[in-house]
Amino acid sequence: MKAVILNEINKPLVVADVELTDLSVGQVLVKVLTSGICGAQLQEIAGHKNNAGYVPHLLGHEGCGIVEKIGPGVTTVKEGDKVVMHWRKGDGIEADFPKYIYNGKTIGGGKVTTLSEYSIASENRITSVPQETPDELCALLGCGLSTALATIENEIDFKLGESIMIVGIGGLGINLISAAQLFSASPIIGVDIHENKREVCKSFGVDIYINSKKENLQETLQDKFGIKEVDIIINTSGNKESIEETLPLLSGKGRYILVGQSKPGESIEIKNANHLFGGNGKSIKATQGGQFSPSEDIQRYIVLHKEGMLKIDNIISHEMKLEQINEVIDLVKKGQAGRIIIKM
Ligand SMILES: [Zn+2]
Repeated sequence: MKAVILNEINKPLVVADVELTDLSVGQVLVKVLTSGICGAQLQEIAGHKNNAGYVPHLLGHEGCGIVEKIGPGVTTVKEGDKVVMHWRKGDGIEADFPKYIYNGKTIGGGKVTTLSEYSIASENRITSVPQETPDELCALLGCGLSTALATIENEIDFKLGESIMIVGIGGLGINLISAAQLFSASPIIGVDIHENKREVCKSFGVDIYINSKKENLQETLQDKFGIKEVDIIINTSGNKESIEETLPLLSGKGRYILVGQSKPGESIEIKNANHLFGGNGKSIKATQGGQFSPSEDIQRYIVLHKEGMLKIDNIISHEMKLEQINEVIDLVKKGQAGRIIIKM
């Protein structure tokens, strides 16, 4: 079967034939239908996920698939089930890391990987969903969309009508905009360094877009829109300068949520740290996938989508093939994509 392989750190990915191995306790063989891609894969390519010592390895952590075969002990899914493939832990056995054969050698992958035609997943990294659930929705629910919804549900203690700023309008940023709209955030401010994101934000009904490379963020907000501070800031970029620039904009009840991870070893300076004590005392939190709980949350999110409250059509900017993976990575790096879906 074909799989995307991270063969060397900071080198183009390889698409090659890989052999599967027998399933051990708690493992499930999944035929992958669609996969998403997210910033975590860029970090893996750069070796920033403690993974440099494990190459070559398989990649991807949000997908949709059909259960082909179950290993010993598996009870939560059965052959033929449609599943969301997710990196957060759900119900079922935490199996050993999978093994694949590449060029005659054994290589590994995460407890779930999705950028391959088949995947050996740990039972607790897949969740059954109704057969009629759209493939694209399932893939998005594996990471990006679920992280966004869960971050807004679990990390913020959102009050109706509070203002929100989303920094970094990539795939996750777009999902966060949709989630913030469900919670009636107002205004919703989008910030990025690419001019093409202005149109993206507009099409999603974002109230204010600021290109922080062209415009001074603080001055523009104040002079053009009369906004001095923001209740909630979610930063998906992990970028040091962007975190330092936006932190002082927190309101007296402000909550700052870091979703995108910074580079290992990098420091971030809090300018005029005294302002954190203003108002009710402000908070900064680094979230782990918004505490998304696959077993509890996925079904609820599917219902939201079915009822028409959660729209995903314009979240997906590209549909591409596995063989185009290096083009996909380029698009994500250059900030030219919303969410990209890869069809096997
Ligand atoms: Zn992800």
